[in-house]
Order: sequence, then C-alpha cells, then structure tokens
Amino acid sequence: MQIFGLLAPNYNLTPPNFTLDHGSSRTEFKVGPFRSFRALPFRKNDYGAARRIRIRCGVSGDHEIDDGYYIRRCVEIARKAVGCTSPNPMVGCVIVKDGKVVGEGFHPKVGQPHAEVFALRDAGDLAEDATAYVSLEPCNHYGRTPPCTEALLKAKVKRVVVGMEDPNPIVSSKGIDKLRAAGVEVTVGVEEELCRNLNEAYIHQMLTGRSFVTLRYSIALNGQVVNQLGEGADKSGGYYSKLLQEYDAVVISPALLASKLSVPTSQEPGANQPLRIIMSRGLDSALNIPSLPSDIRSKLVVFSERKRVGEPDPSIAGVERVVSDKISLNDILEYCQLQRFCNVLVDLRGNINDLEGLLEEAAEQNALQKVLVEVLPFWDGNDINGSTQLTALKGLNAKNMKPIVVRQSIVLVGYF
Ligand SMILES: [Zn+2]
Repeated sequence: MQIFGLLAPNYNLTPPNFTLDHGSSRTEFKVGPFRSFRALPFRKNDYGAARRIRIRCGVSGDHEIDDGYYIRRCVEIARKAVGCTSPNPMVGCVIVKDGKVVGEGFHPKVGQPHAEVFALRDAGDLAEDATAYVSLEPCNHYGRTPPCTEALLKAKVKRVVVGMEDPNPIVSSKGIDKLRAAGVEVTVGVEEELCRNLNEAYIHQMLTGRSFVTLRYSIALNGQVVNQLGEGADKSGGYYSKLLQEYDAVVISPALLASKLSVPTSQEPGANQPLRIIMSRGLDSALNIPSLPSDIRSKLVVFSERKRVGEPDPSIAGVERVVSDKISLNDILEYCQLQRFCNVLVDLRGNINDLEGLLEEAAEQNALQKVLVEVLPFWDGNDINGSTQLTALKGLNAKNMKPIVVRQSIVLVGYF
C-alpha cells in the first residue's frame, strides 16, 4: 500500500548525497516574515524528541540528486500556506549556497510577496552566487508585486532550479527565458510531478477557467454509501479536517446543518475555513440552520430555487443567498469563479438525494476532477439513514486510484 499525502506528502528530506553530522551548532534562519526556522534538517528520534542535524556537502557534485531534495523542501514549505493562496498557487523557495540553506520563503496569501522575495530577503547578501530553488517558474510580469525574475537577478543568484513551468500558456517559460537571457543557469522540471500535485487545482483553474471539483463520500464494507465519517476523521490531524483546510468551498446538503453543530469545519490550527455552499432544493423555510458564531455564519451561502423560496426562516437571516430558477452545477461553478476559488469539494453527507441531481449534471458535463472515498470498517445492511447506492455517477471511471492512510482512516483517491 502506498501512503502518500492527501495532504502532506511523505518526503524524504535527508539529502542522499550528504553526510550527516550531529553537531552542536544551532544556526537559526528566518522563514519569510512569519516564523523562525532552523534551516538545517530537523529530525525526530524514535522517542519523538527533536535533535538537530548538521549537513555537509558530500563528495558528489551530482546536481540532480541535490536538486530533487531542495525542490521537495520547497514543496514542503509551500504547503504551510495550504488553503490560503487562492487564486494564486502555493509556492516555496529555498536559497542554497555552498551546500547550506541560507534562505527560505513561501507565498503566504494573495496580495503578499511571492516565495522568492521572502527567501531572498531571508538570505540577504548570501544570495549572491547561490542557487535558488523554486517549486514553480518565477513570474516575469508586474502584478500586485514586481516580477520575481527581477528580484533574482538583482540578488545575483548564479543558478535557478525550477520545479515546473508556469501552467498559464500566455506567460509559460517567459520567466525562464528572462533568467537565461541574463546569463543565469536554469534547470527546469525537477520533481515535476510533486510540484504539479501540489497545485493541481490551480493548474486546472488556469487551463480551464473553472474550479477543480472533488467529490468525497464514505462507503461501508458492502459498498453502500453511508452518511458518516470514520472515527477521528474530523478531528485535528484527521483526513477530513485536513481536506477542509485545502478547499476554498464545500458543497453540502441542508440536512447536514439540521443536526446541530455539524457545519463542516477544519480543526487544523489556523485553518482558513472553506465557504459552505448549502444546496437547498426544498423550501427555504424548511432550512434549519443552527445558531452559529458569526465567523462561521459569514462563511455560509444558501443556493435556492425560485419556485421553492418560502418565507425565509429566521435562522437564515443574514446568510448570503443565491436564488435561481433551477440550481445547476454551472451556477455554483460560476459563483466560485467570481470568488476566485481554485477548488470546490462536494461532500456527500446529510441527505444524499439533495446532491444527486448535481452529481448527475457533473458527470454529464465531465465537471468532476477527483474523488475521495473513505472506506469504513463495518457492513451496512440496513439501508437506512441515507445509506444508498450511488447511481448518479454510473458510467464514470476513476483512474489512478490509490489508497492512502491518514491515522486510522483508509481513503481511496483517484481522478476522473
Ligand atoms: Zn513571483
């Protein structure tokens, strides 16, 4: 069984061509403006106590092995901003000089400087003649911030290693060309699959103009779709909690809200909560939104059908509403596009019938990109509580299904 990150890939962060030396020196570097970080690899011994390891360059000058290591580190630090960067991608940057990390940075959120800027600031004068590793091609255009290619050239880095080209066909490889034209050695396509995986939603959004849509549901051992999560899945560190942290929006059945305090909420520390999109095909007055804190209430939106809008229940006063003749997947995707969301999770809980029409439409339009199926360790023979066969996706085949294990949860992940 392959265990990989739904959410945090299983990195090997020990550089293969480096010797390890358990030194006593403790060099501290800053990572961007946000936190202090010990730039030398930080490992835990068998008892969970941290020890510091000093790394030294080995005899091999093989770029490729070291390049992979530092790009994996870029991806790891990029993920610190998971769920916070839309519509931008997650990007990490590491500056390495004489075999030592002298600067690190990641893009924290839209409007903030890019990863390269933080890493170069962190490295200061040490960036001169250094190698800059960056998980995505440096930008070469003026947006909210000046181009990162200019910052790299100004810092006089000698070499730039790029995980993957910018997926935007209009600007793709322009950053690389600019650096090469200025005499910088550039290597492209290191750990490319990992880098693509990091930003699969951003890449999809960039190439199609639509949000990346993922379907999640749980099944019992006999294949019945069941209306529940496995033990610990929604607790901090559980797969469901981490999933919610990754997504900009989650589409849910109103039945899920009817049971008190079951608004899908990530328990990860500092998580940017997804917008909860409630598909209300019944009368609005039948909605029963529990009393919720204002920070959760502000992240709810109710999609209703005009003919079914009744006298609004006082419980949805102040909650944003979108009313259309017939709720369609396109309505939801257009709304998400206006919000500049990269990804949307359709969560099959509550009353599955509420979402089945949406799924049929999604299947017809090829609008589903990814599926996650949690396998629960029991036999469901009763066909009650929303337990059902999922017929809306008949005919769809998922590719590259892989099992992942997050704590005690087993989840199958694949792509349509
Ligand atoms: Zn940039």
